[in-house]
Formats: sequence, structure tokens, C-alpha cells
Amino acid sequence: MRFEGVQLSSFKLKLVAYFVLLSLVPLAATYWGFSTVAGSGESRQVTLRQEAGLRAALALYAERADRAQAEAERAARSRPLQRALERGDRRKLRQIVAAEPSLYVVGAGGLRAGTVPHRAASFPVDVVTGTHRLGQVVATVPLDGRLVALLRHGAGFDSGDVLVLLEGRRIVTASPFVTGNVPVTAGRSATVRVGGTRYRTFVAPGLPRVPGARLAVLTPKALIDAADARTRDRLLAGLLACLALVGVVAYLQGRAIVRNLSRFATAAGGIAQGSLGVRVPVRGRDEFGALGAALNDMAEQLEARLAELEAERRRVRDALARFGEALAATHDAKQLLRIVAATAAEATSARGSRIVSADGSVVVSGDADGEGERLILPLTAAGEQFGTLELVGDSFSKEQRMNAASLAAHAVVALENARLHGMVERQALVDGLTGLSNRRAASDALHAEAARAERLETPLSVVLADIDAFKDVNDVHGHAVGDEVLRAFADVLRETLRDSDVAGRWGGEEFLLLLPGADEEGAAQLADRVRVGLASRSIPSVPDLRVTASFGVAEYAGETNTEQLVAAADGALYRAKRAGKDRVERAARAAF
Ligand code: GH3
Ligand code: MG
Ligand code: MG
Repeated sequence: MRFEGVQLSSFKLKLVAYFVLLSLVPLAATYWGFSTVAGSGESRQVTLRQEAGLRAALALYAERADRAQAEAERAARSRPLQRALERGDRRKLRQIVAAEPSLYVVGAGGLRAGTVPHRAASFPVDVVTGTHRLGQVVATVPLDGRLVALLRHGAGFDSGDVLVLLEGRRIVTASPFVTGNVPVTAGRSATVRVGGTRYRTFVAPGLPRVPGARLAVLTPKALIDAADARTRDRLLAGLLACLALVGVVAYLQGRAIVRNLSRFATAAGGIAQGSLGVRVPVRGRDEFGALGAALNDMAEQLEARLAELEAERRRVRDALARFGEALAATHDAKQLLRIVAATAAEATSARGSRIVSADGSVVVSGDADGEGERLILPLTAAGEQFGTLELVGDSFSKEQRMNAASLAAHAVVALENARLHGMVERQALVDGLTGLSNRRAASDALHAEAARAERLETPLSVVLADIDAFKDVNDVHGHAVGDEVLRAFADVLRETLRDSDVAGRWGGEEFLLLLPGADEEGAAQLADRVRVGLASRSIPSVPDLRVTASFGVAEYAGETNTEQLVAAADGALYRAKRAGKDRVERAARAAF
């Protein structure tokens, strides 16, 4: 989780970096374009201002010139001046001119009054009386520092601007003081170095009536550059603000995205750890909304699938538990096969199952004949074949196949147990030497038959047989031959008795025969057939040996118990022995 958190926040920073970088290019281009335009704009603006200033200065100068012209005309018309000129009165002329310092007078014969300034614009007017020209009054506008300062002030130049008067290219006077040459054509603007400083310069066309004199204005390039730099700084500040805004917007967007993503990451992590109940809030209809909905959908489906799997597992577990109980509860092979067939079908979700057992009998559960996948498992253990289990279903998963195999393995163990159990059970009831019922089984059968005879009121007789002089057989021929004799007698009994009759080894060389449905008479006849059968039978290992047996017969009379019945037969047997053996004696006959 921590790891994902780090990943996601670095994504946020990356996003900010991307956006800032992306906006850097257009913003830099904008800055470059704007600063270029602003720079040339500043120059043009300065030129315009210089032009306007110069126009205003020239207008002021024209006004001064007009005033001088008017002054000269007024003086030319004044009678005292005319008279002084007529008379050539130098003194009077000096008097008049002293009152008007911007005038000087020139008369006939080298007459001259007033000072002629060194550099000035002159406005001469002829002094005429009638048709006679007396001389000339000249008004002057001195082109000096005062005039330039006046013009500069009146035209409203910027404080940094320098107004200069040029003669040719040379600065003759300037306000404020500057000296040097201005190598710029009239009516043009250019950047030039004057007296060690760079100026943006505009030169006006020539001053009227003063050949070679021109006004020019100089603006220090440093001032323009400073204004330019200020504009650039403002632009830069604006663009940086834009960049910061982009960064902030990208950061906020990034944060929103990262929040969404970390919500999804947390939810996905939760799902990975098994908390399938987690859901993310679905906001909006954008891709995040769709992702959230998909995540929720996935969690829901996982939850459902898991519940399904859990239910299936529970079902299999239950089936296996029932299966185990059922296997433990029964030793009936047929019943076991039915349980195995049903449980295997249930545990593998098969449509049906069939077991063909080793003896050829078939057990079917469900629909075992339909179409589909077939899973065939042999039921074999330690060389013992119990048959084959066949499952039919749509398809079997790996888990279902494993379930079926494990079930078959358990089933085989149970079938083997049942087989062994049957064997032990048989051994408990069967006499090992002769294969007849042992004493316990014979006794049980006697009780059962007595009860049945009483219930159905049918006759029941018993015969007790004892081999004659058996001790001698053992003594003469050995125990093995004795055993052979016992087996031969059992064979005779099996050959002679009916299926409903029971023959058991009562002990040693003594046998009890139960003959349901037979009265004493019938029983005696049967006993005699056995007697004859034994007497005529040869023993394979000692062909000359002839063995006989004696028989006591008794019929069950209802009121007596089974012990008394056997005792009655025993009594009859005793009599047969006493009477010379190899014969049949009846208990009833003794009673009479
Ligand atoms: P009787 O004619 O009076 O019946 O004489 P008998 O010798 O048959 O009677 P007895 O009761 O004296 O002898 C029975 C003998 O049977 C004794 C015993 O050694 C022998 N016997 C008992 N059970 C077996 C057996 O399973 N196998 C063999 N070979 N002998 C057995
Ligand atoms: Mg005996
Ligand atoms: Mg005997």
C-alpha cells in the first residue's frame, strides 16, 4: 500500500512537470514575440514623441519669427526712425535701437545702429517714405541656448530628451548641454553615439531663413532600454503567473486523479487480500467512473463466484462426510456400490453414474446413458478387482476428476473391508475343516428353525451323528487321515441333504443335522441314506478303509426346548452305539 502511495504521488508531480513543460514552449514563444513587438513599439513611440515635440518646437519658433517680423515692420513704420534715417542722425538711431535690443538699423552711407547677433534668424524690413528707400530695419531671433531652452520647455519634451540646434552635423547649442556631431539626415531618425552616449535621434528639416540650421531631439538610448526592460519584466511576470497557474491547475487535477487512483488501488488491494465486500464510490460519467463501476462489478462477481465455490465445496464436503459414514456403516457390497455410485455423481456434479462390478452386476445412479463426457475409473486395490465406476457429465474439471479419484480410492478400501468382513463373518459361522456350519451357527439355526416350526406348525427333526471308532482311525492312520474322514463325511452330508436342511459340526467327530419339514420317520430315512453313503465311501489316501457312523433321530414336539431336543437325539445316538454302531435309532421309539 505504501509502495503504491509513493508511486501515485510521484505521478502527481510528474503531471505537474509535464503540464508546466508543455506550457513552457508556447509561453516562451509568446514572451519572445511580445518582447520583440514591445521593443520596436517602444522605439516607434519614442520616434513619434520626438516628431511631435519637434513639430511643437518649430511652431513655437515660427511664432517667434512672426513676432520678430511684425516688430521689424512696426519699427519701419515709426516716424522717429524714418526721420532719424532721413537725417542720418546716428545718435537718435542708437537711442531707438537701445529700446528694442532685437533690432538693428542699416541706413545709407554705411549708417548702422544696433548689434548684429552672431547666430540668429534675421527678418529685414525696408524703411520707405513715399517712394524713397531710407534704409532697413532688421529684427533678429538669436539662435542661442536661451532659445533652445525656451523651445524645449514650450514644446513639452520629456525630461530626458535633449533639444539641440545643429549647424550641418555639428551641435551648436543644446538644452541640456551636449556637444558633438549628429550624423543623421534631416527628417530621419536613427540611433547614434553623441559625446560618448547613445541616443535615439530625430532631426527636423531646416529652420526657415537660417540656412544649414536644424533642430534635432536626442533621447538617451538607456532610457528607452530601461522602459523596454520594464515592459519585458511586466510581460515576464505575467507569463510566470500563467505558468504558476498552469502548475496549480495541473497539481489540483493531478491530486484529483491520484485520489481516484489511490481509491482504486486501495480497493484492488483489499480485493486481493480477500475483502470482496469493498466498493469504490462511482462519481461522474468519465473514465474514472467507468473504472470504478468495472471494479465494483468485478468485486461483485468475485464475491458471487466465491460464494458459489464455497457452496460447491460445502456440498462436496457434505457428500464426502455422508459417504464416509455410509461406507463405515455397511459391509454389504451391493449397498456400498449403490452409495459409491450416488456419491460420486453428486461430488462431481455428474448427470449419472454406473458401476459394473466384477461379478457382472450393474448399479446405476441418475442418467448414466446420456451424451457427454465420460470419466471411467477402475475400482481396484491390491490385485482385487471390484469393477469400474463410470461417470457421465457435461465436462469434468480438474478438481472434480480429483474428487472422483479420491472417492474411488475410498470406495475400494470400503469394498475391500466389506470383502474381508464377509470372510471373517463366514469364518465365524463355518467350520474350517469341513466347510459345514460350526457349532455356534448350527445352534443358531436350530433356534431359528424351532421358532419357525412352532410358528408355522410344521415338523422339524434333528439327527445327531457320530463316527464310529474314530479314535482308532486316528491311531492307526494318523490325524491327517482322520481329517480326511471328517471331510468325506461332510461331503456325504452335502450330497444327501436338501438345500433347506442344515448340517453342522457339533464337535470332534459329531455332527448335527436340522431337517425342517421332516418328521422323525422321514428324518430316520434320511439318516439311513447318510449312513449308507458313508459306509460305501472310500477314503482316497486309504482306499481300503471303510468308516461307519451311528445316528440318533428326534422330532421337535413344540413343548420341549431345543436343548431337550438335542438331548433326545443324543439319547437315541447312545442307544445306536450301544446296539453295535453303524445304525439309526429314533428317540420316539425309545419313549414307547
Ligand atoms: P465310538 O465309536 O464310541 O464313538 O468311539 P470313538 O473312538 O469314535 O470315540 P471317542 O470319543 O473315544 O474318540 C473320538 C476321537 O476323535 C478323539 C479325538 O482324538 C478324535 N478327534 C476329535 N476331533 C478330531 C479332529 O478334528 N480330527 C481328527 N483327526 N480327530 C479328531
Ligand atoms: Mg464321539
Ligand atoms: Mg465316535
